[in-house]
Amino acid sequence: MKRHFKMPAQIINGKKISEEIKQEVKKQAEALYKETGVVPGLAFVLVGDNPASKVYVTMKGKACEELGFYSITLKLPTETTEEELIEKIQNLNSDPKIHGILVQLPLPSHINEQKILQAIDPIKDVDGFHPVNVGKLVIGLDTYLPCTPAGIQELLKRSGINPSGKHVVVVGRSNIVGKPIANILLQKKEWANATVTICHTGTKDISYFTKQADILIVAMGKPELIKGDMIKPGAVVIDVGVNRVDDPTSEKGYKLVGDVHFESAYEVAGAITPVPGGVGPMTIAMLMKNTLQAAMNQVLTKQFSN
Ligand code: NAP
Repeated sequence: MKRHFKMPAQIINGKKISEEIKQEVKKQAEALYKETGVVPGLAFVLVGDNPASKVYVTMKGKACEELGFYSITLKLPTETTEEELIEKIQNLNSDPKIHGILVQLPLPSHINEQKILQAIDPIKDVDGFHPVNVGKLVIGLDTYLPCTPAGIQELLKRSGINPSGKHVVVVGRSNIVGKPIANILLQKKEWANATVTICHTGTKDISYFTKQADILIVAMGKPELIKGDMIKPGAVVIDVGVNRVDDPTSEKGYKLVGDVHFESAYEVAGAITPVPGGVGPMTIAMLMKNTLQAAMNQVLTKQFSN
């Protein structure tokens, strides 16, 4: 009888790839400084005291330090009004040392998130959330791509996995992950050009779609919901989810898991991103890349206006 041995899934190492990108960005930033005297500058705006937001801003600030970027963090109290926040953003819009502005989400519930994102000058919108940049992405113009989806495309590229002609199934339709990654990968461009299906809570039978995916991208925020039997053998699985679950065996009492059940998916997939160490580190690397790009764009704009 012929026996079939499955090759183990390739683990896509986001930590390693993100380090490579950061080193490249660092070199390019040094070259920019030599040529123009400009140091890329990034401002973080943190409203309230959401512990996860504080951790994210600290991690992003550390990456700035590591790459020699200038960064500042505006820490504002929860009671900050929409008007006060918009005024702070306008000040950052006109600060020549600041090339990128990142308002850490979520914002307190009395503040309209869209109003705030739209107050950021699109040339400084390194998160790619301003409607002008979202529109540019959709119609295929060059723009700042939102960092997590940009990181996913870069992971695929640097792992030699070309989405062109493949069926990509995205589970989740948020404005920060699901919709932008679907839009990025369906563009008629290199390292894109995929056939894209998007699933969400209105999808009747999720596994009907996930089983058809050559590349499955999951961004739901539901711990380990996607199991191995929902995945096509040999598929590439990109797990965006970051979920805290109880773990009495760990010192902290919890562990981080993705939206994909890693053990069962690993048995079936051709390649898979781990959590942590997959998509997560890529988000920060792409933020640094966008900030460098923003600095270069602003140098060019200044040169043209002189
Ligand atoms: P989100 O805004 O909560 O969106 C979740 C999406 O998943 C929604 O579109 C929702 O559908 C869909 N969904 C939820 N449960 C579902 C189900 N049972 N069946 C089908 N669809 C379902 O979340 P997000 O901001 O995109 O984040 C998703 C996950 O990625 C979270 O775990 C988050 O922590 C993680 N994340 C990681 C990074 C990183 O850097 N690694 C960055 C961002 C987010 P509806 O639209 O119908 O509600």
